[in-house]
Amino acid sequence: MGVRVVWFKRDLRLHDHLPLAEAARAGPVLCLYVVEPALWAQPDASARQWGFVRESLRDLRRALAERDARLQVVVGDVVAVLDRLHALQPIEALHAHEETGNGWTFGRDRAVARWCRAHGVAWREWPQNGVVRGLRERDGWQARRDAFMAAPVAEPPPRWLNVDLPWNEPPPRDALAAVLTDADAPQRQRGGRTEGLLALQRFLAEGGADYRRGMSSPLTAPDACSRLSPHLAWGNLSVREVDQATQALLAAAPLDRAQRQGLQAFRSRLAWHCHFMQKLESEPELEWRNLHRGYDGLREDEWSDERFAALVQGRTGWPLVDACVAMLRETGWLNFRMRAMLVSVAAYPLWLHWRTVGHWLARQFVDYEPGIHWSQLQMQSGTTGINTTRVYNPVKQARDQDPQGHFVRRWLPAMRAVPDAWLFEPWRMPAETQARCGVVVGRDLPMPVVDLDTALRGAKARVHALRARPEVQAGEAAVVERHASRAGRREQPARRRSAAERSQQELF
Ligand SMILES: Cc1cc2nc3c(=O)[nH]c(=O)nc-3n(C[C@H](O)[C@H](O)[C@H](O)COP(=O)(O)OP(=O)(O)OC[C@H]3O[C@@H](n4cnc5c(N)ncnc54)[C@H](O)[C@@H]3O)c2cc1C
Repeated sequence: MGVRVVWFKRDLRLHDHLPLAEAARAGPVLCLYVVEPALWAQPDASARQWGFVRESLRDLRRALAERDARLQVVVGDVVAVLDRLHALQPIEALHAHEETGNGWTFGRDRAVARWCRAHGVAWREWPQNGVVRGLRERDGWQARRDAFMAAPVAEPPPRWLNVDLPWNEPPPRDALAAVLTDADAPQRQRGGRTEGLLALQRFLAEGGADYRRGMSSPLTAPDACSRLSPHLAWGNLSVREVDQATQALLAAAPLDRAQRQGLQAFRSRLAWHCHFMQKLESEPELEWRNLHRGYDGLREDEWSDERFAALVQGRTGWPLVDACVAMLRETGWLNFRMRAMLVSVAAYPLWLHWRTVGHWLARQFVDYEPGIHWSQLQMQSGTTGINTTRVYNPVKQARDQDPQGHFVRRWLPAMRAVPDAWLFEPWRMPAETQARCGVVVGRDLPMPVVDLDTALRGAKARVHALRARPEVQAGEAAVVERHASRAGRREQPARRRSAAERSQQELF
């Protein structure tokens, strides 16, 4: 009898893992993870993501050992690995989860499918979230997603007949040294299901009480939010098990109003997770081209290395922006509003095209999830045609979200000596104040890279002018038809929505 290979990708767990459950039911199983240097050499991959994955693999290895099974880790190209394996140990079927990844993984999966067809190996794939493969129209999607989430979580099989690789070469320790040359994030979250379960328990134990109140400020969000994103992105936990655990708490525990609303808001975010991933699944091109083609040419020819370098180095001169970049570098995580603000600052006052900015941010995020990431990049840059042009002013955001300057002073040491009166616009400090506090703008703190008000006005005017063009308006309906959420028809061509609808729309 041939072996069933379970190919682990972004699903580094044994629980709620149908490919494994089905393989274990059928016969001998080989659990495979392939470290793919070509994947990790992509411009959206980084050492911090790999660090998280490596820890997740160790945890997975421990969980397998408890079931007398072993994780087989091989370095190389997946097709070449399958080819070698099949020659020595015939493969009956390859089991995996469907992946909504970047263009590279899409191409790789097609190559695997071709290889399976050519070698008579059955390739069986299962969805692992609410994303529907081959979806023809968006109507009815929500009901299908909800049905998926309500289906029972697959228990891990207690035991199965384990098969090892038919060769005995330990994977090289520094397999990715040549491709991952960037630095890890020293304060990032640790990978693995054990860590993921702890994060889930912590969040649910607090019953979501601070979730809605605390999610927007970068000061409170690290504790108020669930911090499950990297565990969901790399599959330490399934969205379904997290959703069901939350629902169970909502049904069973005596909760106050804030907790109930917090948990419900959290469940909506879990739905958005699938909603945004569905966009990339349905239109993989949104990773590299504008969702609404009427926006082509808006920023492409005006790239500025200088403005981009200021952003990446955290030297824009706007303290909240620079503090967010510093936190991201150190921790690999930021809350939603601050992510949106960074992209908005890149897209409007700095007038940078979203694609290169998106690669840089993807590498920064330990929780990089292509479907959410690229959809959000386009939304916050105003190139979808179906969302409000939401332009975040970094000075206003600082007043609203960090009024006492605790956050900027934590991440930007030079801000510690700046008097409260100049927290939001330190570049306006008179020379005597600079001399008194020992912080010289241009030396200890950068001057803003552009004049904010002028740049914002100019950027908005250009986007609105484009949006007003009849051919651009005509193109909006097609994007709505393909991608918009049908939940209350929240995503609609922007110019037709009321103010009330727009406030609902902030995060979609
Ligand atoms: C420009 C930009 C890029 C982003 N890139 C990513 C990314 O690569 N990976 C990623 O997981 N999230 C991304 N997000 C969404 C969001 O910022 C993060 O999911 C969230 O900050 C993660 O923290 P958390 O797990 O504590 O979130 P919680 O608020 O506790 O939410 C729970 C889960 O719901 C999902 N979720 C939350 N907010 C959103 C949202 N707005 N859209 C879709 N799903 C959501 C995530 O899976 C998250 O883990 C991005 C947002 C923006 C504006």
